[in-house]
Amino acid sequence: MRKICLIYTGGTIGMKQNPNGKLAPVDFDQLRASIPALALLPVELDVVTVDKPVDSSEMQPEGWIDLVERIEEHYQDYDGFVLLHGTDTMAYTASALSFLIQGLKKPIIITGSQLPVGVLRTDATENLLSALEFAAMERDGEALIQEVCIYFEYKLYRGNRAYKRSSNEFDAFSSPNYPALAESGVRMSLNEDLLWKPVESILRFQKKVDASVGVVALYPGLDFTKVPVLEDWKVILLRTFGAGNAPNTPAFIDFLQRCEKGGVQIINTSQCVSGRIVPGLYDSSSALEQFNTLSAKDMTFESALVKAMVLLGRNLGRDEFIIKFSESLSGECA
Ligand code: ASP
Repeated sequence: MRKICLIYTGGTIGMKQNPNGKLAPVDFDQLRASIPALALLPVELDVVTVDKPVDSSEMQPEGWIDLVERIEEHYQDYDGFVLLHGTDTMAYTASALSFLIQGLKKPIIITGSQLPVGVLRTDATENLLSALEFAAMERDGEALIQEVCIYFEYKLYRGNRAYKRSSNEFDAFSSPNYPALAESGVRMSLNEDLLWKPVESILRFQKKVDASVGVVALYPGLDFTKVPVLEDWKVILLRTFGAGNAPNTPAFIDFLQRCEKGGVQIINTSQCVSGRIVPGLYDSSSALEQFNTLSAKDMTFESALVKAMVLLGRNLGRDEFIIKFSESLSGECA
């Protein structure tokens, strides 16, 4: 029987109304009792609860590191890991784990739900049971899935390719630039050709992240003379238009010059969720080109942001940062 470690971090899946009528996380034993089918699954399940389960809007880089440490500690004891996590920042955590753990040979599947587990019509039961089934899939004793995934509403996604698209539909996640890895219908159909094959053969757990990253979203009417370049920003993610376009105005060029002077690396990431950055396609991207900005290619915003934090955490020189950011570390870009 496959041995799976279930790590409960919080999120709606394990919440109940508190005395103020607000949803807040409860402990895992209450959750387990609400899903009797768990006992019927042909997997050996151990449950670990983080010290303080949270609403995932409270998840911080320290929480990602805590998960990396827990997975490292138990890595040899289990065939796979399933994480219960709030949906709000699930895509950030999935991206973080996919970059912080390299050379992964076992599945880490993150799931949660839109309705708490005890509620009639909850999506928690299906999400949890299917995530466990995917985590247990093997051939000749080897795990079929060897990457970080998000399982939600009948679909398995590469974690660093997915983002939360809806706060009120069960179908809460989407992976606009990479197909779903699997679907669970009457049968669980896994598309093995789409799965990530690790480039790193050595298993590495990185435990440092540097969050000195700013985000600037462009919009018509933005006065660049008022946009600060904060001293502790090492990277700015610029949320551009369309295929990576920005206004070629003196104020924008001055902003780019201030970034350059401050040694801040600009990463061009689009406000469009689907498609990729195409530098030089329009004249309106030429200012960005002159200033050696990096392209987030077809990465999700979440993935590009977290990748920058993880690479800053490696204390790379500027050139190496640029090379690594441009590579696909865990299947996050093409
Ligand atoms: N606010 C919740 C969280 O992210 C939402 C959810 O779990 O769906 O923790």
